[in-house]
Amino acid sequence: MDPPPVPPHIVIFPLAAQGHVNSMLKLAELLTFSGLRITFINSEHIHHRLLQHADIQARFVAYPYFRFKIISDGLPIDHPRTGNHFMTAFNYVKSITKPLFEELVAAPDRPVTCIIVDGILTFTIDVARDLGVPIIAFRTISASSFWAYFCIPRMIEKGELPIKGDEDMDHIVTGVPGMQDILRCRDLPSVCRVSDLSDWFLQYVTTQTLQTARARALILNSVDQLEGPAISQIRTHIPNLYTIGPLHSHLKSRLSSSPSSPPPPSASNSLWEADRSCISWLDEQPPKSVIYVSFGSVTTINRHDFTELWHGLVNSGRRFLWVVRPDSLAEGGPGAVPEELREATAERGCVVGWAPQEEVLHHGAVAAFLTHSGWNSTLESVVAGKPMLCWPFFADQQVNSRLVSHAWKVGLDMKDVCDRVVVERMANGVMGEFAAAGADVARRAREAVSEGGSSWDNLDRLIEDIRSMRT
Ligand code: UDP
Repeated sequence: MDPPPVPPHIVIFPLAAQGHVNSMLKLAELLTFSGLRITFINSEHIHHRLLQHADIQARFVAYPYFRFKIISDGLPIDHPRTGNHFMTAFNYVKSITKPLFEELVAAPDRPVTCIIVDGILTFTIDVARDLGVPIIAFRTISASSFWAYFCIPRMIEKGELPIKGDEDMDHIVTGVPGMQDILRCRDLPSVCRVSDLSDWFLQYVTTQTLQTARARALILNSVDQLEGPAISQIRTHIPNLYTIGPLHSHLKSRLSSSPSSPPPPSASNSLWEADRSCISWLDEQPPKSVIYVSFGSVTTINRHDFTELWHGLVNSGRRFLWVVRPDSLAEGGPGAVPEELREATAERGCVVGWAPQEEVLHHGAVAAFLTHSGWNSTLESVVAGKPMLCWPFFADQQVNSRLVSHAWKVGLDMKDVCDRVVVERMANGVMGEFAAAGADVARRAREAVSEGGSSWDNLDRLIEDIRSMRT
């Protein structure tokens, strides 16, 4: 009898940052659950923090075809990784990519079928090509943001960038085809706010995005039925596009479709330990009464805005659950409750350092989400059918919040304003008004990841295409 065929072996290489590792691990889990062999490259620092959580460790140990490959990011493991550490680590990883890929490709027992790389590490494309290994890019941002980045040269050509000044911020942008009725200058990715077009970060992001088209294919954590206009535009430049999101929901859908699979994960791939006392607090609140407040894993907020938000929420009279990370304040120090609001906060608020967000968003007591519009948070809220009050900080968040308020109409966009009166008005406005649109958008997202849905079929197609690559 012939031995069983060896499963294809995929090397997955994320940028070493919480949001990127989180999404790419979900992709890895989806692929290994489907029988593919995975080597997940993880920085020693992130790996150490991730595997402190027993549930995450148990999940990945249970997969026979999954393994981590640990690399250094050039910094000691206990380095605080503040300041300009990002570029130091980035340059170090860039310098070791060639020998790393050579080592992985040379292993006789695990021939590499293809590499799936974080789309902002496009320097890997040539390294993989030289080794004769197919390479696929994965971007963790929304399709609409990716498309806006892609159109930066076109917006420059049309004279829409650089933005002239404050008076230009509400000008409707014409240089992003498919999104002309949606985007104002204010809604472009934050990198577009620079006055000098030679700004290195603008240049870097633009180059990385355009370079993505050189990969064999692109995977996006998006849904055709939610971002259709941007997705069809991207397809004209990158025909081999797999939209397979929302990944967190897709993973649960696949796991629960198989009788032999482990129970669907309730945990995200978080580096922090969630404080579950907020679930007990939510259990005691009336249905649909609480605004959940979280600004993700990396944003920092200045004390002025922090205080305005807090006053606005308290003045709205609503109950709230607020995630204040130990490193939330831009000025450093703890994000303590303002003295004059202590009593009101104790009466109707709950503050934790890190929450089990997906579970919180699905809790019956939660009515709405005050969010920084990170893409994972946005998708998690969409699937949970919760309206959003968006207060974007940077990167793709400006685009995402506009999708929420003007494409899907499932929330309000508070962008560029942080004033207690506005917060109070919008906190009240977001409660209740968006139920029908929210239910419709949630249905579209859930259908996409159900058997026969667009994301489900696209993942099957991706797996088939990988299986057909010869090693
Ligand atoms: N998250 C969480 N608990 C919290 C805050 C955030 O589990 O208290 C998770 C959230 O569910 C999401 C991720 O952290 O999956 C944040 O990702 P997002 O893309 O929204 O923002 P980023 O952190 O990349 O800015």
